[in-house]
Amino acid sequence: MTDTPTQLFIGGAWVDAADGATMAVDDPATGEILCHVADAGPKDAQLAEDAAVTAQEKWARTAPRARSEILRRAYEIIVERTDELAHLMTAEMGKPLAEARGEVAYAAEFFRWFSEEAVRIDGGHATLPDGRNRMLLSRRPVGPCLLITPWNFPLAMGTRKIGPAIAAGCTMVLKPAPQTPLSSLALAAILKEAGLPDGVLNVVTTSRAGEVCEPLLRGGRIRKLSFTGSTGVGRLLLAQSADAVVRTSMELGGNAPFIVFEDADLDKAVDGAMVAKMRNMGEACTAANRFFVHTSVVEEFGRRLAERMGALVVGPGTRDGVDVGPLIDRNGRGKVEELVADAVERGARVLVGGRTPEGPGCFYPPTVLTGVDPGSRLMDTEIFGPVAAILTFDDEDEVVRRANDTPWGLVGYVFTEGLDRALRVSERLEVGMVGLNTGLVSNPAAPFGGVKQSGLGREGGRVGIDEFLEYQYLAVPVG
Ligand code: NAP
Repeated sequence: MTDTPTQLFIGGAWVDAADGATMAVDDPATGEILCHVADAGPKDAQLAEDAAVTAQEKWARTAPRARSEILRRAYEIIVERTDELAHLMTAEMGKPLAEARGEVAYAAEFFRWFSEEAVRIDGGHATLPDGRNRMLLSRRPVGPCLLITPWNFPLAMGTRKIGPAIAAGCTMVLKPAPQTPLSSLALAAILKEAGLPDGVLNVVTTSRAGEVCEPLLRGGRIRKLSFTGSTGVGRLLLAQSADAVVRTSMELGGNAPFIVFEDADLDKAVDGAMVAKMRNMGEACTAANRFFVHTSVVEEFGRRLAERMGALVVGPGTRDGVDVGPLIDRNGRGKVEELVADAVERGARVLVGGRTPEGPGCFYPPTVLTGVDPGSRLMDTEIFGPVAAILTFDDEDEVVRRANDTPWGLVGYVFTEGLDRALRVSERLEVGMVGLNTGLVSNPAAPFGGVKQSGLGREGGRVGIDEFLEYQYLAVPVG
């Protein structure tokens, strides 16, 4: 912690906020203050934008191999420092160290992946159908970007945006979530060490997100917004981006259905449920939010899931043997408590958990609810906590209709041993990603993203870099 930067990173230098403001970073396991970091205001954001705009032209002309090698070096440094970064992440975010190490590996992989993509940006050449003109097609960086990230994956949500932006030749202003600024600041230090030129990445930590970001979006110099966070904030930022017609990528909230058919392998389904529900204490956009289980297997599934959930050890993420750390803050836990209370009032049965423990920290126990009423609030709210809500269904058409009956469409999970049904149901689900007999879909080599109000665009995979590139077409007469 002692070496972790706590200032703003602007134009390659570590600086205080212009007005000297700082904000506290809390440890969610104890509620105590870990440290203070600079709290940027609009003036700092403008300086960060100046630095990004100034660096853009030269950076766009940098050889793709040079950009690739910076990412590759940063990948190697991150992997080398896995333990240090994992401890930092656990301190500010709360996830158990084993999960934090997993996130460091996942985050680093975006840099390795995009170091490989940086040298594969291609164009095209064709004689047009009229035979009189040639078309030369090239791809250009979109320009200075504003990147806004949430607190739930403090390192990976950054690298998933910074990796393709560097590969494409874009400069950036990154605004991380105020709960977890330290991982982003550590990442900026690593990129500087890896040789990233000054001004290419600028980081503004702030408790005044709206005041800091809105002028950048409306000002006309930022050409791209890449946002990960809730659908409500995404909608607001889309509106703010409209004035200057800023290109946007939106990775928003989810409300994932987890469907267990009568022919599912229940061992696989319960294993899948543990991952889809409990990764990151349930604080993931991909978290299974609604478990639809066929009436004929619901009792067995519920019993087995409750047994596994009840065996998980809850405690501070730094303690050996802990499976479930604290939730991010009191607000986050309060929301989970309210959603469970509402479901229970409407008749849900608590198979395990459901009671907030006494003492400091924002802990909440792994909880399984069964017999959940479809009108319960948690059916159309992201629970963002370790609560599995089970409902029943009787036939395929019915479950597909209910799974799709939501404004979100990020991911769905389907458990069945029938190939025809697996493909048919997956194709009918209105989602950007499907986990078929698995509870984990995230992978840097696959396009991550949703449909409907879960977002616009994709991150990762071969297409991830497209979000940061524009086409330019040159018309050249055939001589
Ligand atoms: P959030 O409240 O929407 O905040 C996300 C980021 O936006 C934070 O940095 C936040 O800063 C900032 N922000 C909020 N209001 C803003 C404004 N007016 N202008 C500029 N920035 C603003 O979401 P969260 O609670 O941090 O994260 C949880 C949400 O993220 C969930 O809905 C989850 O599903 C979603 N998520 C989606 C994905 C995906 O890939 N689809 C991945 C991870 C998380 P402040 O906190 O200071 O307001």
